[in-house]
Amino acid sequence: MLGYFINLKNVLPFSCYNTFDDIPLSNYYKSGKKVLIIDLDNTLVPYDEEVPNDNIKNKLKELIEIGFIIYIASNNHPKRVKIFCDELDKENINIKWMAHSFKPFKRCYKWVNQDVKKEIPEITPKQILSIGDQLITDCLGSNKSNIDCILVRPIKKKTEKWYTKLNRMNERILLKRMRNKYPSIYKEIIDNHD
Ligand SMILES: [Mg+2]
Repeated sequence: MLGYFINLKNVLPFSCYNTFDDIPLSNYYKSGKKVLIIDLDNTLVPYDEEVPNDNIKNKLKELIEIGFIIYIASNNHPKRVKIFCDELDKENINIKWMAHSFKPFKRCYKWVNQDVKKEIPEITPKQILSIGDQLITDCLGSNKSNIDCILVRPIKKKTEKWYTKLNRMNERILLKRMRNKYPSIYKEIIDNHD
C-alpha cells in the first residue's frame, strides 16, 4: 500500500480547517499569499453537486475582490469541471480551471506558475496557496512544488469515487504513521477531519 511508502514530510498540510468557508483567506492574503489553487470535489462542493451554490459564488467573488487570482484544479473529468466553472463564468466570477490535473503530479502547479506570471511576473511558490481535502493528491502535489496546502474536511465522503476511496485507505495509513512522528499536526488534522 502506497501509504507505507510515501515520505510523511511530503503530505503534511500547512494548516487545517473544517470547511473552505472557515479558512481566514483575507489574513493569508495580507501575509503574502496572492494566488489560490482550489480543489473542486469535496472541497468546494460534494461529488454529487454539479454547480456552485450561492455561498461558494459569493465567497469566490469576495476573494477576487480582495485581490486573489484563483485557479480550480481537479482530477475529475473536463465535463464535470466545465459545468461547475461555467456557472461561475455566467456571473463574471473570473477563475481559470484545469480538469484531469493528475494531482499529485506537478502538471497543474507548473501550469499555474506559468500562467500567473502574466499578471505577477515575480511570483514565487510561497505566494501560492493550495486548498484541498486529500493528503495524497492535494497536500502531496503542493508540497512537492513547494506550495503550502490547506487541508479541509471532505464535505461528503459517501459519494466519493472508487479511486478516492482507495486514496482514503492510504490516508488512514499515513495518519497512523503521522500520529507517532508528527503528533501536533496529526491532532490538527483529526480535529478537523472525520
Ligand atoms: Mg477533492
